[in-house]
This record gives sequence, C-alpha cells and structure tokens, in this order.
Amino acid sequence: MEKRNELYAGKAKSVFTTDNPDRFVLVFRDDTSAFDGEKKEQLNRKGMVNNRFNAFVMEKLEAAGVPTHFDQLLSPTESLVRKLEMIPVECVVRNVSAGSLCRRLGVEEGQDLNPPTYELFLKNDELHDPMVNESLAVTFGWANQDELDEMKRLTYEVNSVLKTLFADAGMLLVDYKLEFGRCEGRIVLGDEFSPDGCRIWDRETRKKMDKDRFRQGLGDVIETYEEVGRRLGIHFDD
Ligand code: ADP
Ligand code: UDP
Repeated sequence: MEKRNELYAGKAKSVFTTDNPDRFVLVFRDDTSAFDGEKKEQLNRKGMVNNRFNAFVMEKLEAAGVPTHFDQLLSPTESLVRKLEMIPVECVVRNVSAGSLCRRLGVEEGQDLNPPTYELFLKNDELHDPMVNESLAVTFGWANQDELDEMKRLTYEVNSVLKTLFADAGMLLVDYKLEFGRCEGRIVLGDEFSPDGCRIWDRETRKKMDKDRFRQGLGDVIETYEEVGRRLGIHFDD
C-alpha cells in the first residue's frame, strides 16, 4: 500500500489517498481544537493515543457486528480505512446529561438519561454544527430515511457494546458522537472513536477523562486519555 496525496486536512486528522481506490489513510495529528476551532493547541502524543484508541474500539465494534471503516494500523499515528462517502450528519447518544444538552435545556449535569437520548447535528463548523432532525436530513438530501434508520440502529448498537466495555473498566460513557458513511450500498461507521469525541467519567469520582479536560482547562489531557486506554487494556508504548 502506497500513501499518495493529501485529500483533506481536518481539525485533528488528515485524509490521504492511496494506490488502492477503496482505501484512505487517516493521519491522527497532535492538533487539538474546541469550540468550532476557536481554541487550538498541539498536545504531544495525542495523535498516537487517539489512533491506537480508535483502532482498539473499532475492532471491538467490528467484532460485535457493527460495520466499520477500520482496516489496519499502519504506524503509531496512521490507520488504513475503507473510503466512505461521508454523511454530513453527526449522531450523538447520551447516557448521562452533560454539555450542550444542559446548556440548551437547562438540565443539571450528571442526570442518568433513561432511555438514552439520540440527537442529530449538521456537520458544519461555520454554522456551529446546528441541531437538525430526520425530516431536515431527508428534505435536504443529506441521507435518506433507510440510511437514517440504519444510522440510529447502529448508534444504539454501539452504545450497548461500549457502555459495557467502559463500565467493566470502572468508567461511565456519558455521551459520544459518531459519523457514518456509505460504502458499497451499506452504512458504515467512519471517522474516529476516541476521548476527543465522547465524554467519559470515572464511575466512582466522576472525574472527567475526555476532551472536557481540554475544553475546561483541567490539565493532564493526554495523560488522562492514556489512563482511560490503559483501563480498557490498550498498550500505548511501542
Ligand atoms: P473535521 O473535518 O471535523 O475537522 P477531522 O480533523 O477529524 O475532522 O477530519 C477527518 C475528516 O475525515 C472528517 O471530515 C471525516 O468526516 C472524514 N472521514 C473520516 N473517516 C473517513 C472515511 N473512512 N472516508 C472518508 N472520509 C472520512
Ligand atoms: N462532539 C464531537 N464533535 C462535535 C460535537 C460533539 O465529538 O462536533 C461530541 C462531544 O465530545 C460530546 C458529544 O459529542 O462527547 C456531545 O456533545 P455536545 O452536544 O454536548 O456538545 P459540546 O458540549 O461538546 O459542544
């Protein structure tokens, strides 16, 4: 496999074409951003930690029957993935109230949400990722109803696998964001699952162990991501 041209540089990852038209290389960079790119920093080792974290989670999900884009790790910061036609809608599940849900609805942080909630956001930084719904997605052609049904089904499937995985390691999976794409007529999980795109709290102390450490300036961001990974059984050292 030969890595070729950079197709897109996002806020945290870069996408490269390869000599295989069905595969991309995702490069996980140390760049870290929050508040739609307003707060930006380089966090040493983040690319490596998130690449390995993502590979571990994607493999668990694949084994549980969730189709993912992950193919293989190529280097500490690079993964080979299936090329997807990305759907510009982010799927968010919440098991515990936090973040924009609290700001939007005036709900107190830390409430158990039963059943877990499911929200859709349009992936558009300029518009600050506005909340949307299935009707808007169908009308504007972002996804059709069958695709939306499958995205929802898979997002809840991911929840049942990952809630247990984190709980068994003494952590609460508070909420997370998933992105899906199309590949050979199927809906496939893309992008990444790492502490950058979810909220994870220690089950006993409720210590924040995710990107809120960066957003809120709590410190020890990557050290804490590594602790989450170690609790799950991920090895970060070469
Ligand atoms: P952003 O675009 O939000 O700044 P990133 O820095 O993470 O985010 O950039 C990665 C980009 O790659 C995202 O736009 C994501 O939708 C896209 N992407 C992720 N996985 C795939 C894939 N398998 N095929 C095509 N594009 C992908
Ligand atoms: N999230 C993300 N990317 C986004 C928006 C949200 O990864 O563009 C994640 C976020 O880290 C959290 C979950 O989705 O785990 C829910 O985010 P929320 O709507 O609470 O927004 P936030 O408070 O993070 O702005």
